[in-house]
Amino acid sequence: MTNDDSPRVNGIDMARIPKVSLHDHLDGALRPQTIIELARDIGHKLPAGDATLLDDWFLQSCTSGRLEDYLQTFEHTTAVMQTEEGLVRVAREYVVDAAADGVVYAETRWAPEQHTRRGMSMQEAVDAVAAGLREGEAVVRDRGGRIEVRQILCAMRQNDRSLDVAQLALANRGGSVVGFDLAGPEVGFPASRHREALELLAREFFPTTIHAGEEGDLELIEDALVAGRPLRIGHGVRLVEDIDWDVDGSPLLGPVASWVRDRRIVVESCPSSNLQTAGMNDLGTEIADHPFDVFYDAGMAVTVNPDNRLMSRTSCSRELGLLVDAFGYDLGDLETFALNAADGAFLPLDEREDLADQIVHSFDGLRAE
Ligand SMILES: [Zn+2]
Repeated sequence: MTNDDSPRVNGIDMARIPKVSLHDHLDGALRPQTIIELARDIGHKLPAGDATLLDDWFLQSCTSGRLEDYLQTFEHTTAVMQTEEGLVRVAREYVVDAAADGVVYAETRWAPEQHTRRGMSMQEAVDAVAAGLREGEAVVRDRGGRIEVRQILCAMRQNDRSLDVAQLALANRGGSVVGFDLAGPEVGFPASRHREALELLAREFFPTTIHAGEEGDLELIEDALVAGRPLRIGHGVRLVEDIDWDVDGSPLLGPVASWVRDRRIVVESCPSSNLQTAGMNDLGTEIADHPFDVFYDAGMAVTVNPDNRLMSRTSCSRELGLLVDAFGYDLGDLETFALNAADGAFLPLDEREDLADQIVHSFDGLRAE
């Protein structure tokens, strides 16, 4: 960190580094002031009435170390995202804030089944998010910037709407919606519980990512890989259970970790978030204890993501800065993470190649300064 507290690498302000954010929840990225204003409009009671105090409340509530407590905070964010107006605003601001952080492409994920409490249909909610994302992209464009943001629809592991959400995702493919995800508590709710939805998505060749190994053990990652055939894994912290070290210091990978590495299953790492939930418990309490560097060293397609910008009071730049401080990464490493993410984006190949070209061009420009 420098004196002005903005993270830097090779002397360059991290916000200027081009980033691809693959694991960045819509309902985890609200501005505190927006929550207050939207809550006032619909008469929802919040734990604090001032933006700074509310911001503190989110951060504190999320450091209990229990995923259940962490997930509880989403009651308040989803509560103000029950109208088309609320969803459009939240999606628009999501895009504007991501662009300000140097994100050039993002996939925002959220669970339509959690946005129907005030009568909106899941399709209307998807349309509202799409409209908000388009508005946000236009705002950024008007300011001379460039960002594209698509949607990943989540089904909640503890509920039974996954088939409906899978069908919703398929009905919206080709536009704003590019992927499907399983989110929510892992323990007791394995991915295989949603086999019907996952089978449908596989038969339709629709891109899938699954939260796995965030709090659940290696078996739950294995279950997700077998039941869901995901192209990406959310978090995957517990993959570390399947990695050992040879006497010469080289990593020895078991079958699950080998599959993830060798098939280039993209690992969506979210370091700060992982320190707030149970997945890191036995590994340590610092970013330097996070297995991100082990995964990178083992040759996995690692990417850097904020997970929930509000709950972890973070951003892609901040996460990169923490990793640079902990592991001494340089500009080349950060370019690798961005290119891994571009390659793992749920876009057609030509668009991923354009994104990768844009990233390489930007990094070359930064190096030439
Ligand atoms: Zn997540």
